[in-house]
Amino acid sequence: MKQPGSEKMIKQSPYDEKWWEEWERKGGWRPEGWKIVEMNDGPTLNDLKPEKFLVVHRPHGSMFHHSYGKVSQFFIGLLEGKLYGTKCPKCGLVYCPPRAHCFNPKCRLAETKWVELPKKGEVHSYTIMAIAWPSMAHLQPLVGAMIRIDGTNTCLPMTMRDVDPEKVNIGLKVRIDIAKDPKGDLLDVYATPAEEPVAPKRTPEELKRFREDMEKTRAWVKKTFGTK
Ligand SMILES: [Zn+2]
Repeated sequence: MKQPGSEKMIKQSPYDEKWWEEWERKGGWRPEGWKIVEMNDGPTLNDLKPEKFLVVHRPHGSMFHHSYGKVSQFFIGLLEGKLYGTKCPKCGLVYCPPRAHCFNPKCRLAETKWVELPKKGEVHSYTIMAIAWPSMAHLQPLVGAMIRIDGTNTCLPMTMRDVDPEKVNIGLKVRIDIAKDPKGDLLDVYATPAEEPVAPKRTPEELKRFREDMEKTRAWVKKTFGTK
């Protein structure tokens, strides 16, 4: 019987321990560093083979070090500027967010395979956030959207940029962008419109209330963060 064995370091971006006191404020719970390691993995101890895992170092009061396990390749892909999903070899469903095992009952948890995805998709649903977590508060009003990436059967939640919240609509074609300095978490991925957005139909009263809400949010952001 084999053993999983110790981890072998492949690549890393270490975090700076000097910033301990500032981690939570600075990181806003986003990873401050990461390492890609190789370990033996498999369905049983008799069936082990080397596999790559991404471990991130995430400040959250104290520092948490956690692995993304079987979906590591998705986050390793983000570090390389690529978008990956998983495909079931039995029924062909494509997952992004990735699933290590197919959830179609007929497939009896078949292990999926990694596939590279195109960086485009469309808005399946969305919400406009006027309460965001500290590291993103200055971006409010922020559009959070469920995006169906072309060729996939599920939706990936992400934020939208370069779009007027008033004009976001279901069905809007988007480009998927990956941050230039990826940290190894889902906030590395965001969407921007790939076509001229057309506002959804609203009654004059709805539009008035919507604009008032946006104005209040923008005024609060300006007061709190200045004009940056
Ligand atoms: Zn399947």
